[in-house]
Amino acid sequence: MDKANEEKIDVQKIIYSLENILSKNRIKTIPLQEPQFLGKEWHYVKDCLDTGWVSSAGSYVERFESLLSEYTGAPYVVATVNGTSALHMCLLLAKVQPDEEVLLPSLTFVATANAISYCGAIPHFVDVDEATLGIDANKLRSYLHEIATIENNDQKSFCRNRQTGRIIKAIIPMHTFGHPVDMDPLVELSQQFGIKIIEDAAESLGSFYKNRHTGTMSDLAAISFNGNKIITTGGGGAILTNNQELAILAKHLTTTAKTAHPWAYYHDSVGYNYRLPNINAALGCAQIENLPFLVKRKRELAQKYEETFKNFRGLRFFTEPSFAQSNYWLNTLILNENGPKELEKLLSLTNKSGIMTRPVWTPLHQLPIYKKCPAMTLEVTESLAQRIINIPSSANLIEA
Ligand SMILES: *Cc1c(COP(=O)(O)O)cnc(C)c1O
Repeated sequence: MDKANEEKIDVQKIIYSLENILSKNRIKTIPLQEPQFLGKEWHYVKDCLDTGWVSSAGSYVERFESLLSEYTGAPYVVATVNGTSALHMCLLLAKVQPDEEVLLPSLTFVATANAISYCGAIPHFVDVDEATLGIDANKLRSYLHEIATIENNDQKSFCRNRQTGRIIKAIIPMHTFGHPVDMDPLVELSQQFGIKIIEDAAESLGSFYKNRHTGTMSDLAAISFNGNKIITTGGGGAILTNNQELAILAKHLTTTAKTAHPWAYYHDSVGYNYRLPNINAALGCAQIENLPFLVKRKRELAQKYEETFKNFRGLRFFTEPSFAQSNYWLNTLILNENGPKELEKLLSLTNKSGIMTRPVWTPLHQLPIYKKCPAMTLEVTESLAQRIINIPSSANLIEA
């Protein structure tokens, strides 16, 4: 064990520094991540109310979709009622069938696995890399060589798990706390093994991987606009795709699969009521106008944290990988081997003193609902789960 790993964690010093960076004269608790309404939100929402276009029709949805397309560079965007429904729809569009397996990190929000379950498919957990907090492509490569075979059918290759006999249809890399996963090796693996990629970019609007926006390195991706994300529509989500046919199908299936007709109700498949209401899209249009400003502020806050925690013993402030330009949606401290001993104390003291902090999610393979799912060894996930602490990250915590 190297020296840094043995070093004691000074919990009081961490709290003192957080107090210092955040606000000294505050009267309320500093949240982890607070929405910012700085622009035309009132104006656009009022417009919906004034005109009566609040629900399933109206011009803000299309406008929001094209603003997202412009910002991310994704050729097609379909807005949905939340990020989970966007993920579910992506899996349906990738033709994930019941009893097929879908690879995903265990270190993610439960929605990633739930969307797989909605398809009747089976989550298959893979480990993450401490340097990116996303899927460890090297470990995945050796694992696939060990457990999977590539089969060919109609000139298409697909991947079979030899241990379960099931097809491994897709993989869902998730860009943790906004930090991009190293996508290139995953894209290579997916091509080699015939596994489709769906990016869970729920947290990474405003984050770029080698100058490409997250969610545009695969055929399908999902974003979330829940209240805790970098921009919000109250509740909302979006599907990004580079495929026009999939985009048309996504729009159709998220709007009850109704065929176009002036009055007839005719539905040609089992559709979903997953469309984003116009009033939520109105909020989104105003929010995205301020996205570059929010990303800038959050990056400045992260820089301040980085400088402050640079010389701390026993922990490091997580910074973007060299290939990434991150939105720093949630700022993250990673404690050393002593972390598991100190985590509860740190969480308890910070929250008591009005600085909201949170641990990372319980790894999904440890939840009773998912504990019987196939999984590789998950030692990095299990270790990180006891050493990660998220600290206040709102864009207004740094002076303009
Ligand atoms: C927020 C989030 C989702 C789900 O988004 P909702 O809009 O809350 O349904 C999915 N995956 C990850 C990683 C998230 O953080």
